[in-house]
Amino acid sequence: MKWIKRISLSVLALLLIATLIFFYSINKHVDIGRFQEWYEIPVTDPPPATALTVQFVGVSTMVFSDGETTLMTDGFFTRPSAMQLIAGKIEPNTEDVKWGIKRLGITALDAIFVVHSHFDHAMDAPLVAQLTGAPMYGSTSTANIGRGLNLQEQQIKLFEDKKPIQIGAFKVTPILSKHYEFPNSRVKEQALGGNQEIETPLVPPVDAMDYKMGGAYTLLFEHPYGNFVLQSSAAWKENSLDNIKADIVIMGIGGLGAQTAEYQGTYFEQIVDKLAPQKVYLVHWDALVGSIREPMQAEILLLDKLMGKTMAGFEAVEREMKLRPNIPFYLLPQWEKRVLFRGPRSVLGQK
Ligand SMILES: [Zn+2]
Repeated sequence: MKWIKRISLSVLALLLIATLIFFYSINKHVDIGRFQEWYEIPVTDPPPATALTVQFVGVSTMVFSDGETTLMTDGFFTRPSAMQLIAGKIEPNTEDVKWGIKRLGITALDAIFVVHSHFDHAMDAPLVAQLTGAPMYGSTSTANIGRGLNLQEQQIKLFEDKKPIQIGAFKVTPILSKHYEFPNSRVKEQALGGNQEIETPLVPPVDAMDYKMGGAYTLLFEHPYGNFVLQSSAAWKENSLDNIKADIVIMGIGGLGAQTAEYQGTYFEQIVDKLAPQKVYLVHWDALVGSIREPMQAEILLLDKLMGKTMAGFEAVEREMKLRPNIPFYLLPQWEKRVLFRGPRSVLGQK
């Protein structure tokens, strides 16, 4: 009977090690090391009252304001736990959303624009709309996320491909693009397979994968001070950005590290080279789990291994940056108000 005891002990030991590794991988975040130097140099002076500013929250949630009009993209504040994301159900956390809006110092919001309907973009947008009274713009899938949370119909606005939306001095044009292609076939099937539309009101708590993609949009912001583009998903649609130029590009690099060098290179050609910006900000590199009340960190090791490959993504960006020495690339510090344009047609941070 000795061998039975020995085998049982070995199995137990293996289980214990596996459990420890699992908990380590959902609690430990990737350290981005030298890439922290990419944070744009802190500005000590408060931004001039006349400036067009950006505040970065994480993923592709940002607030843009020219002092008169304030716009938000996505409005994602609820970070689910790793366990909820992997094996459980997720739902918006009203207190976290309220906390985030307060942390941003928002007193009035004029509109919310949701880039696509995955949870890390669209999940909280209806709550932001309810709490601020702002209309929520997005796809029909995003509209159904709104309906699932009882957002009033008059606050639900639909994107029409390439149809500009004028709000104050901002002209915002949603341009139908493509979503990042997950290289992992199982994740790809779950996130992008089959019907990608949310066709009925989505009432949380639900599986993270129930937040179907619903169409991914590039957002072009035109303003008398300057133009900028938000490309949240690390993908492109051939010719969709032809004849568009942007002073500043804000681009997502989520998952870029898991792609081939060819994909990475084409992404930069299709976004950066086409839009020919004077400056690029990198977003969507941070963790989708954790708490919004904690400082921003890169992805947890488990998700990074499964799909993120954060460091390989930064290395790809570094390689592409070297091919474009005249364009400065930066990371945006979380919450801080940064100046995109000081006034009419001037870009700060030019090198
Ligand atoms: Zn997505």
